[in-house]
Amino acid sequence: MSTGERQEWMVTLQTATRPPASSSQKHSDSLPHLSSTNKRGLLELRGYKGRVLVSLVGSKVRLCKTEQDFRAGLGISEVELTAANIKEVDRRGFEVSTPFKNFCFVAESEREKEEWVEAIKESIAETLYNYEVAEKIWFNEANRSCADCGMSQPEWASVNLGVVICKKCAGQHRSLGPSLSKVRSLKLDCSIWSNELVELFLEVGNKNANSFWAANLTFEEELHSGATVEERATFIRRKYREKKYRKVLEDFNDLKKLNRALCAAVVSSDVLQTMELVFNGADVMCATGDPDYSTPYVLAQRAGQKLQMEFLHQNKLSDFPRLDQCSENPCLSDASLFMDGFLYVSSGPVKMMPDRRGRDDMARRWCTLEGGFLSYYENERSPSAIGRVDVTEVVSLAVSNSETMTGAGALFTIELYLRTERALTVRAETQETQHDWIQALTKCFVPSKVEGLVQKDSKLIGRLQYKEGHDLYHWRTGWFMLEGSTLHFSSGDEEEVLHLKQLQELKL
Ligand SMILES: [Zn+2]
Repeated sequence: MSTGERQEWMVTLQTATRPPASSSQKHSDSLPHLSSTNKRGLLELRGYKGRVLVSLVGSKVRLCKTEQDFRAGLGISEVELTAANIKEVDRRGFEVSTPFKNFCFVAESEREKEEWVEAIKESIAETLYNYEVAEKIWFNEANRSCADCGMSQPEWASVNLGVVICKKCAGQHRSLGPSLSKVRSLKLDCSIWSNELVELFLEVGNKNANSFWAANLTFEEELHSGATVEERATFIRRKYREKKYRKVLEDFNDLKKLNRALCAAVVSSDVLQTMELVFNGADVMCATGDPDYSTPYVLAQRAGQKLQMEFLHQNKLSDFPRLDQCSENPCLSDASLFMDGFLYVSSGPVKMMPDRRGRDDMARRWCTLEGGFLSYYENERSPSAIGRVDVTEVVSLAVSNSETMTGAGALFTIELYLRTERALTVRAETQETQHDWIQALTKCFVPSKVEGLVQKDSKLIGRLQYKEGHDLYHWRTGWFMLEGSTLHFSSGDEEEVLHLKQLQELKL
């Protein structure tokens, strides 16, 4: 018997004689317990020298060299278990294969291997569970074929438009920009599918949404599932941006009338009426005239209309041009917002940000901005993202106009603050790329009607609640931009300017 074999027998026998509960903890005893971790421990990875620290968290397996690397968010690789397979190779070995890459692990014992296989199988089963969102949404029969081209079993959705669409049409919806269409997957973005959102899709769905968007669509103009990329792009642009086929509500050409009708609709159970008004250009954030219930959302909340609330929430950043604006302004600037490049990234809870937490945890990542999501990857070739931020959830963006000296040289900082009280700091290598990223990022969370604010050389831009001098009862939402000591402000109509040096009093 060789020493290796002897060692193996020892471990196997030790494992077998130990009470079951402690065996899985063998390697984790010295490691801090993380409640979100399903399983972690040391495994051999074929093709890699030495053992690696493997952590299974949710639907992801993260491979790190050391515990320090794990805590700093530095990994050798991250395996997304959606669409992954696991198979046992031999007594101690198992293989996890994804559409992009295969990983071969060797555990220290057969028992250990079985525990890993079981834990990973469970996680894979959980990713399949996401099919349940699709199954639920397809329960509405109209949602079983793409709202645009009719392809069967569509797996994507535009969550603000309330339509279920196929993958090819989803690509074209993304290029409309998030202010017209917020594209999400029924399977991959499972965390966003709340009960209310699923219910909204059962209530609205493709048939009702198309009764608005495609009311005047002729048979000849219809899009077919085999259409070319160009045909698809043209059709989707005409349908949602130019509103060429939509139902016309003649009475509602001015914004005041639309907004008044919206305030009346949101307290009823008729979501379809709300939908038509919003798609026609009613302002979801308009003032209701009621001091206690100042936005349509709060009105719906008071009336206990959960679906109305969900619809308004999904459309809080939407910007549908009104009929009178449509012809003048058929093409808005954010048509195909896509950007990628290297940035230094670090993220954490807001309270950790001011001291900048040391510089070494900023890692150079390949970043992409698409469909309102900023994703960062280990490198350009990594198949799955390390992290992803929904930029439409950003409440403010802060810019540092001077360079920051870091271990990686002089970098240019942008800080994004999210509704969830998390913050993401990214640093660009040049001032030009910093500027390009600021332009692209702000387009994702600032409605185009206040886009004028973004053009300037801003230090801080974000959404705030405010009250106005002559009307101290109404809290309203506005967009603010700080440039030097000048505060620019817009609620969507006119831009106002406050010179802070002339300010008499500031109350907190
Ligand atoms: Zn389609």
